[in-house]
Amino acid sequence: MHINFNLPKKILAWYDNNKRHLPWRVGKRSTKKLYYRLLSEFMLQQTQVKTVIPHFQKFTKKIKTLNSLSMCSEKKILKLWEGLGYYRRAKNLLSTSKILVKRYNSKLPKTIDKVKELPGIGNYTANALLGLVYNQPVIALDGNVKRVFSRIINKDENKINFEKFFDLNKSKLFNEKRNSDFVEALMEFGALICKPKDPECKICSLNKSCKYFNSSRKFKKNKNKIIKNRYYNIFCYINKKKQIALTKKNNLGFLNEFNLPEIKDGKNILITKDWKFLKKYNNSISNKKLSINLYYKFSNTKPKSFTWHSIEKNKEFIPSFTKKIFNQVSILF
Ligand code: SF4
Repeated sequence: MHINFNLPKKILAWYDNNKRHLPWRVGKRSTKKLYYRLLSEFMLQQTQVKTVIPHFQKFTKKIKTLNSLSMCSEKKILKLWEGLGYYRRAKNLLSTSKILVKRYNSKLPKTIDKVKELPGIGNYTANALLGLVYNQPVIALDGNVKRVFSRIINKDENKINFEKFFDLNKSKLFNEKRNSDFVEALMEFGALICKPKDPECKICSLNKSCKYFNSSRKFKKNKNKIIKNRYYNIFCYINKKKQIALTKKNNLGFLNEFNLPEIKDGKNILITKDWKFLKKYNNSISNKKLSINLYYKFSNTKPKSFTWHSIEKNKEFIPSFTKKIFNQVSILF
């Protein structure tokens, strides 16, 4: 059960190029780090990232620091928590903030036992916080992370003694400078690449070393997979107020804000003159090779199912490919 390659280096290189820009990911020296991490970890218990983002933004707009949180009434916190559900988390968050401020001088204790004594914090959250806030060499073991390790060594995750496994591989797993990034990169990698169903093995930077991918069963299956060429056009409606019209209707998950009619035969369709060609992208997902043409037109009108979004404001919290489109469109102004 030894890992025989530089896992942190590969995962961190992937993370640096593909990480989502989430509002709680502040700089290492930011004074908001503990508050933002604590709040987001509580919100993310039982709730998906995309649901948490607007709630996190609303919450931090009203309550800006850990100290101000600790002075809030329960009623105020529950009101702000509305829409997220599992209200016990909000109560625990408030109790934890009071303890941190009074007993620990607004800091997080440095040992796992002390962190786990805080209300609403179990083993996973305690490790995540120690890694993210103090850069400690820990792994926050959620379902995503278990799956990544179990696939890399190709062993059923229920048969892995993770404590023993991490101890055995600690010299390969931890990197003094970037433990906190590694904690997050692993979770992100499990959520976006080494997914529960249809992992993106073909584009995965670990595939040469991954035993699951290289196992004969998987290998044969992949060998027999037919690579399909897919052709898409993205049509961007843009107006002079620097807004782009987006819709939820589409064929591709990672481009889920754009309307993407597929061109079945791979040849160009007749595109009316008012659409201007901007750029061609090539990408691959699973067994598909994608060829994507980006077109735009300036227009004050748009189809009914679309809504206008500010190109500048929305840039931060969108998937990286969509961000590329936004950046490309921005140069038109
Ligand atoms: S090659 Fe596939 S199974 Fe292995 S780590 Fe990458 S995505 Fe996961």
